[in-house]
Amino acid sequence: MADINEIRAGEIAVSPPAAGDAGLEFIGRMHTPWTSRAETPRQGRDDGPICRIEVFDKWAPALKGLDAFETIFVIYWLHQSRRDLVTQSPRSNGTTLGTFALRSPVRPNPLGLSQVKLVGIEGNIVSVRGLDCLDGTPLIDIKPDRCPHSG
Ligand code: SAM
Repeated sequence: MADINEIRAGEIAVSPPAAGDAGLEFIGRMHTPWTSRAETPRQGRDDGPICRIEVFDKWAPALKGLDAFETIFVIYWLHQSRRDLVTQSPRSNGTTLGTFALRSPVRPNPLGLSQVKLVGIEGNIVSVRGLDCLDGTPLIDIKPDRCPHSG
């Protein structure tokens, strides 16, 4: 039977986040031009400014191979969001919708998801275009837009 704790050749393991019920460890932070929600784009654009994703040193080896992708997903924690609204009435259109029908940052677990264009990787810094989060927003995960071997 396979050992689920097996470390294969070339793999690196570090101490995992503390156990907890769906506990998260922030693995980096975003460096963007925006310091207030009002000035931050609602959704990032491929022609938006270059932003830097700082991956904390411990997790930097996890970037190996990411440079093979043009498009990646970034998942982050919208840390200044309120978390109590189940329906919302966005100022822009006057209608009311359920939180799960919106991309609003206001949600019970304020995860942000952006599909961004990879500009480059230097050490533990991933430069991308297409983000829409405040400077200092905590990073949760990065993943390519497809499996590495799916062509
Ligand atoms: N692209 C992501 C998504 O769809 O999951 C986030 C979209 S959300 C509409 C983007 C907005 O969230 C920004 O315009 C800004 O008002 C707000 N925002 C950005 N960073 C935030 C943060 N760290 N905490 C709270 N709100 C934030």
